[in-house]
Amino acid sequence: MSNKKLHIVSLGCTKNLVDTEVMMGRLKSFELTDASEEADVIIVNTCGFIDAAKEESINTVLNLDASRRDDSLLVMAGCLSERYKEQLSQELKEVDIFTGVGDYERIDELLAEKQSRFTEEVYLIDGAERVVTGSTYHAYVKLSEGCNQTCSFCAIPSFKGKLHSRTLDSVAAEVEKLVEQGYYDFSFVSQDSSSYLWDRGVRDGLIHLIRRIELIDGVRSARILYLYPTTTSMKLLETIAASKTFHNYFDMPIQHIDDEMLRIMHRGAGREQTLRLLRYMRSLPGSFVRTSFIVGHPGETEDAFREMCDFAERFGFDRINVFAYSNEEGTAAFDMPQIGDDVIAERAEILGEIAREAKLASLRKEIGTEITLVIDGPSEEHEYLLSARKLLWAPEIDGEIYVNDREIEEELSFGTPYRAKVTDLVGDVLTATVTGHA
Ligand code: SF4
Repeated sequence: MSNKKLHIVSLGCTKNLVDTEVMMGRLKSFELTDASEEADVIIVNTCGFIDAAKEESINTVLNLDASRRDDSLLVMAGCLSERYKEQLSQELKEVDIFTGVGDYERIDELLAEKQSRFTEEVYLIDGAERVVTGSTYHAYVKLSEGCNQTCSFCAIPSFKGKLHSRTLDSVAAEVEKLVEQGYYDFSFVSQDSSSYLWDRGVRDGLIHLIRRIELIDGVRSARILYLYPTTTSMKLLETIAASKTFHNYFDMPIQHIDDEMLRIMHRGAGREQTLRLLRYMRSLPGSFVRTSFIVGHPGETEDAFREMCDFAERFGFDRINVFAYSNEEGTAAFDMPQIGDDVIAERAEILGEIAREAKLASLRKEIGTEITLVIDGPSEEHEYLLSARKLLWAPEIDGEIYVNDREIEEELSFGTPYRAKVTDLVGDVLTATVTGHA
């Protein structure tokens, strides 16, 4: 280990996090530090999806620059850097090295040469060593990069390119390697997971993935995030339902439910097709259904918005993400007549409240049930509480459980699955008593 210090920040989505972990894998000789003012190298892996994310990325870079050592190197990487490479290189003089979404596995070369580089080909992990962050038992696994969908509001294909899937062998080899390192819970991610392998001429690539991952000893738990309505088949949902390894966890951002809006947003699937998939997911025992909605997209009438609110309120989603429409240049919606910011903000508030209530209703149903959870560590809330996650839930986004009691003698260990009884709901956090090993 050299005595050089690295401070690295990963913004945006879990796909970006995997790329950050690849950079950390290349820079293993560095000592990681949370103190950016002490670092020799500071890397920000940025997000360029929507205005709020872009702002956060720029502010993070500027704040880190303000407190860094004069002889340190400040690197701006990732989607924002890729999307606005010319402009940022001109305007953001604070940054020493710019790179985009093509050079994660060459970050050590860029640092050695102190050179910016934007390799055209979008990077897709394939066997690279990475430093998994945030857990000792759970890891995100990237299935593909880019996207072939043409959603009217989304700029991602403009800087991440067309769908490019890893081979099944590449994904399975990574999971096998991670299992050897003690990981047993996996979240499979991409921009459009249900199109996995379509670019390699394989339909229902996720069915092949599920069958392959189920064969790997040591994979105890798995879920797939980012299903897309037009490439999600009933056969895929039945395969997930029948799997002993993959949870009945369904994350399908539908963005809207009004037929005309789904047409305007170029979503490809109308209301009935979307409902058929969602109703089947909801009908499965112990299923968990998560989605996202966009409010204020051009063309959204008050009636269409109301329809979406009524649906979100009645359907019984476990978790709902609400996005305020962000007018992104280079997208089909950019030149459409826009809805006023105040109306967008008001709609986001209204649907946000419905989303909060949907989460509480889902949590209330858990009280009194027996679940499998994993303890992640001491709770930040209270010294006598341990912070846990229901094993079915995805990390970070689905919530936390406070373990405040146990019916077994031995001390509870972190990263170990336990059976537990859900005892109460405090605010939007469940409490639970560990009853045994899982
Ligand atoms: S599926 Fe739609 S929203 Fe998601 S990355 Fe592709 S184009 Fe963007």
